[in-house]
Amino acid sequence: WIALADIRLDSHYRQLPDHLYHEVGPEPLPDPRIISTNHKVAEQLGIDPCSLDPQLLAQWLGGHQLPPGSNPLAMKYAGHQFGVYNPQLGDGRGLLLGELVHAQEHWDLHLKGAGHTRYSRMGDGRAVLRSSIREYLVGEALTALNIPSTRALALCATSLKVRREMVENAATILRVSRCHVRFGHFEHLYYSRQHEALRELADYCLQRFYPQCLQAEDPVLAMFRTIGRRSAAMVAGWQAYGFLHGVMNTDNMSILGETFDHGPFAFIDTWKENAVYNHTDELGRYAFSKQPDVVHWNLSALAQALLPLTTLEGLKAALDEFPEQFKNAYQARMRERLGLASELPGDEELISHWRSLLNQYELDYNPLYRALALAQTSRANGEADLDELELIPWLPVLQEWLPLYRARLQQEQRSSGDRKTAMLAVNPAYTLRTHVAQHIIDAAEKGDYAPLNQWLQVLQNPFVDHPGLEDWKKAPQGSGFVMLSCSS
Ligand code: AMP
Ligand code: MG
Ligand code: MG
Repeated sequence: WIALADIRLDSHYRQLPDHLYHEVGPEPLPDPRIISTNHKVAEQLGIDPCSLDPQLLAQWLGGHQLPPGSNPLAMKYAGHQFGVYNPQLGDGRGLLLGELVHAQEHWDLHLKGAGHTRYSRMGDGRAVLRSSIREYLVGEALTALNIPSTRALALCATSLKVRREMVENAATILRVSRCHVRFGHFEHLYYSRQHEALRELADYCLQRFYPQCLQAEDPVLAMFRTIGRRSAAMVAGWQAYGFLHGVMNTDNMSILGETFDHGPFAFIDTWKENAVYNHTDELGRYAFSKQPDVVHWNLSALAQALLPLTTLEGLKAALDEFPEQFKNAYQARMRERLGLASELPGDEELISHWRSLLNQYELDYNPLYRALALAQTSRANGEADLDELELIPWLPVLQEWLPLYRARLQQEQRSSGDRKTAMLAVNPAYTLRTHVAQHIIDAAEKGDYAPLNQWLQVLQNPFVDHPGLEDWKKAPQGSGFVMLSCSS
């Protein structure tokens, strides 16, 4: 392990044509204070967690000092926002500080909330504490659920006030991901007809992120296929766990298939197939049930941008694979959540029946699986059965479905004890519900960071009980909808 003070950043991204970035440093923030550090992310980066010196991190996250080797830059990209092409996008408030190499993996360090860049347009270049906390925590919540996401190494509060719907405190996070290239990077070069640079970007991505595709007959097409498969797996995870992204514009889609640019996201409390939480999404374009189709649409926008580099037929064929890829990934996730180790005819019907119950009764979504997991037991004769005590609150609505589920469990080879263990390892007792996040934010706004740091650990390990937090497992009483603001 390396000590934080000894890291040295590279800047490979600068090999790319300068239409893809602009060099700019952070604008210093007043009174930067590190309010949380993420030991798990430090370990992933090969940094000794004990060396996460808050003073040093505050210098970096407050924009007063740069990490060694850093040559910060703002990336240029474009994208389709709510279906409309916008050429004027780019890192308006975040900077790529550089890349850290650990165990042959490159990790981008990106300072979000760093100040103005050429791409800030009317914005102030800042991020508020509220959304920084949400982004910091949700990266951990998703990662624990095995849903790929960007993460963050540290969270920094400041005394700068910024105006949103009201006056709020500015903050920064040090975002960590293997890749900050978005679908919108390719769209920028395609629509501005810079096909030479488009080729260079594709080559860079192939070498950096998709070296296995270099052997293929058509490497760009092979890369596109892989992006499609990964995006399908990502959105299958969202749908299986009731995660709503909120702003699925193509500039918020990572070419690695990671959940990226967390804004007005939500974990669904009581199930609503058409849930929309982003109050600027008036038409419900990014409603929960539409997310797989939106990913497919976004992939077609990427395909369009790759057209100068490969064949139309190839791209079309790859796009046509998406519905099947999504379906397979989603069914696999749902079988896993329901404790089905094998795949048998009839499973799709069992799962769609389950979903129809959710739709009909608007049940509190994630706790249901936890209860099913805890209910797994066996009879004296060794046959799989369910402990109905665990399911009491749900029995009235499950009457029709439970016998089918029971019968299906009888066809499993795995013992009910093993099934229970496996189910408890994929069905969280806690998710980052909106009111949980708000509770953490309210405390932090008053200078109490204990809930933030407690929940960081809970969300990194949501499969065990955390004493004293039982009430946060459930949907809030009377919760229908909380709309979330896009302005962050
Ligand atoms: P988003 O809605 O977060 O995907 O952001 C869309 C665009 O607005 C991107 O180009 C962002 O960099 C930019 N942006 C968002 N918030 C700000 C801000 N406070 N200051 C400057 N630019 C911003
Ligand atoms: Mg964005
Ligand atoms: Mg954003």
